[in-house]
Amino acid sequence: MDVTGAAGPPTSDDGAYPGYRAARSRGLGELDTHLTRCRACPRLVAWREQVATTRRRAFHDEEYWAKPVPGFGPSDAALAIVGLAPAAHGGNRTGRMFTGDASGDFLFAALHAVGLASQSRATHRGDGLALYGVRVTAPVHCAPPQNKPTPAERDTCRPWLSAELALLGPSLRAVVALGAFGWQSLLPALGAAGWQMPRPRLAFGHGARLTLPATDERQELRILGSYHPSQRNTFTGRLTFAMLVDVLARAAALAGLRSEGPEV
Ligand code: SF4
Repeated sequence: MDVTGAAGPPTSDDGAYPGYRAARSRGLGELDTHLTRCRACPRLVAWREQVATTRRRAFHDEEYWAKPVPGFGPSDAALAIVGLAPAAHGGNRTGRMFTGDASGDFLFAALHAVGLASQSRATHRGDGLALYGVRVTAPVHCAPPQNKPTPAERDTCRPWLSAELALLGPSLRAVVALGAFGWQSLLPALGAAGWQMPRPRLAFGHGARLTLPATDERQELRILGSYHPSQRNTFTGRLTFAMLVDVLARAAALAGLRSEGPEV
């Protein structure tokens, strides 16, 4: 409180910070600036900074990002891809979603195969990678221990995703949710951003599809589910490269980014 007794804006380590700052951001650049200052989840702040101190042997001479990782891709994207959270030695190291880990190698190679990425490799923020009409983001923006955010951390982080989707709203036509966590986090975020949710809610599955009706300001939104390109899924063959390319090609067609279907 100030000398008049009025409460000031929440500080970056306050649980109210994401909702306060996300709602007041007028563009994705401003949103990302506020996001990268967020310290609202004490456990995740401690983990992301601890990992940056201990590091993995292969990256011992690198300076880790160790902050919330913003979405990556153009501000007028027609397609959004929503994952889980940055990896401790991937996005938490490089500062860019899905960049510098095996899951990202799989995802960006598939995006490149569909014509939505300029190259198939994503190694660091200066690697020249560009996405075409696609923004890659997550419902939790800090790396969690064991890749498992708590429900409270997911809910605390939700305003960032809701605001990001709302700001993409005028151009957004389709969203791919990667994994059950991404699917279950995405729907309430879209609801908070003003889209009408179907009842009952459709359960996650690879290939699950959902259409959210148009609103006064937005066209209808198509939602597709895909298994997450985690090593657990890709090493076991639960998610093959062809399966992911198929979902991304369908999503790209629904978003108006390409007219033809999958090629593999
Ligand atoms: Fe902030 Fe989200 Fe990171 Fe929590 S997970 S500290 S809400 S950016």
